Parts: sequence; C-alpha cells; structure tokens
Amino acid sequence: MSVSTKLAALARRSLLRLGALGRARRSLSILIYHRVLPQTDPLFPDEVDAARFDQQMAWLKQGFRVMPLAEAAQRLRDGTLPPRAACVTFDDGYADNAEIALPILQRHGLAATFFVATGFLNGGRMWNDTVIELVRRAPGPRLELAALGYGSHAIGSDAERTAAIHALLGQLKYLEPAARLAAVEQLRGHLGLALPDDLMMNTEQLRRLHAAGMEIGAHTVHHPILASMDEHGARQEIARGKAALEDMTGAPVRLFAYPNGKPGRDYHAAHVALARELGFEAAVCTSWGAAGPDADLYQLPRFTPWDRKPLGFTLRLLHNLYRPGQTV
Ligand SMILES: [Zn+2]
Repeated sequence: MSVSTKLAALARRSLLRLGALGRARRSLSILIYHRVLPQTDPLFPDEVDAARFDQQMAWLKQGFRVMPLAEAAQRLRDGTLPPRAACVTFDDGYADNAEIALPILQRHGLAATFFVATGFLNGGRMWNDTVIELVRRAPGPRLELAALGYGSHAIGSDAERTAAIHALLGQLKYLEPAARLAAVEQLRGHLGLALPDDLMMNTEQLRRLHAAGMEIGAHTVHHPILASMDEHGARQEIARGKAALEDMTGAPVRLFAYPNGKPGRDYHAAHVALARELGFEAAVCTSWGAAGPDADLYQLPRFTPWDRKPLGFTLRLLHNLYRPGQTV
C-alpha cells in the first residue's frame, strides 16, 4: 500500500468517525447514478464505469449502512433509521444498469432502486443520447451543421467531439420538448447515421432487475419537465409510467423520482401532491443533501459523490450529510 493510499485510508476513518456525530448520525444519504459503462468512454472519461462503480460500492459499504430506499423511507418515517444509512439509486432505465451494475451490486450484497422512464424501454433513446451518439459517429474532422442553424464544429479529436456534444446539447436543451424532438430528428436525418437501439433496458432486463430483488421506481413515461406541463398532462405522465412498470413487474411501484428533479424549477408543490395522491410511499428529487428526521418523504434529497480518489468520495459523502436539501 502506498503512503498516499495509507494516508487516504487514515483520513477516511477519521472523517467517518466525525460523520457519526450529531445531525449526520441520523441522516439518510441517497446516491444518484445514471449509467455504469462497461469501460471508460473516451468522450466522457469521468462517467462511472464498472471498475469505478465497484470501487465506490466498496467504499460506501465501509462507512455506511446501505439499505433499500423503500425500507429507509419507512424507517425515516418511524424514527428507526440506523446511523449513517445510505441508498443507491439509478435514474432513467439504461440497459447497463441490468448488464453491468446489477452483477456488481449482487457481488457486494447491495440492493438498489431503479427509476425507469417507460417510454424509452425496448429500443427507445433519450434525446441527449441521440445527440451524443450522432456526434460520436460523425466523420471528422468537422461537423458542418450551419445549414440547420447549429454552426460548424471541429471533431478531429475526442476532446473536440466532447466539446461539440456539449455545445449542441446546450443549444437544444431549452427548446420545448416537441420542438427539441423535431430538431434532434432533423439532425439525425441530416447526418444519416445508424444509431444504437439498445441503450435503454428492454422488458426482460427490467424483469431481471426486479427478480434479483432490486426495487423498480417510476420516473414518468417520457421524462418531461413536470413544471412545464399542465396538471392533466403531468398526472398522465406519472400515472401511466407507474402503471406500465406494475404491468411489467407484476408488483406495486411505491417510489417516484421527479424528472430532472430540481425543486421549484423542474417540479412544484402540485406535483408533490400528485405523487402522494397517486399512491407512492416516497419520492426523490435532485436537490443535494441528506434527509434528516424532519425530511419531506415526498422530496427526499439525493446527490452525486463522484470522485476518482477514495478520500474525495468519502469527503463528499460526509460533506453532503450536513446539507439538509431543498424542497418546494
Ligand atoms: Zn431522469
């Protein structure tokens, strides 16, 4: 073991002791993941891959009591949450959740919750992934999109391709959903490239997660920003996503994640009321923080503790314990 690894381990132990004090002692940490890639993606070298996820689960287990989210929410409600409780959650329904993350979770003996947007299952793709996969496959050294109003981008190197992806995502992000879908389809037609249709889970993969004891949570059908919809539309999106998952798994869906999930920006109090009314037992957002004994069970905060180094990962987990999280 190198000196720096030993120092990191020592610092981690001291920090974990600190984290066991005060408010942090009875706070629930909920981690958010999206994808777990089979190996490092040269365009997104900081994305979580199998090796990094495996390492993070090992670190998490060392300092935290990892439990299923439904159980943690129940125990938060009852006041019986054990010290330093943590949950692992995944959003959106990527196929690598079943193919890569599941075996790692099983090896660590951990249960996680998977929030799935049902409209992309079985061959669908989220708009941002269409942009990413188009730019990944476009022939270089330049991507000429001026005719469509999206400029000209250098894509001669991986770094340039990544920059082009971010520029395009930024341009498309704030369009209305229908206009955005049309723009992405236009890009796809213009470039004429074949794209993968297996990024998201299929029904068999979803059932496999469920059969392995993992919890399946709802995340709407089409992943809309609820705050930008009328109440009827929002209700349909949430209720239909829940019903479709219950159909596929044959089990009640008890948990919900607001798409994008920033309180006051992506969802409002009316959507919190809807989640309750539609029969969920708890819901999660993406306000960073840890849930204390007084937390709103329908707006549990979550966070992303990525770091390549063990000390950074632990530090972020502990720092997060002292943030209460925001609500609407
Ligand atoms: Zn999502």
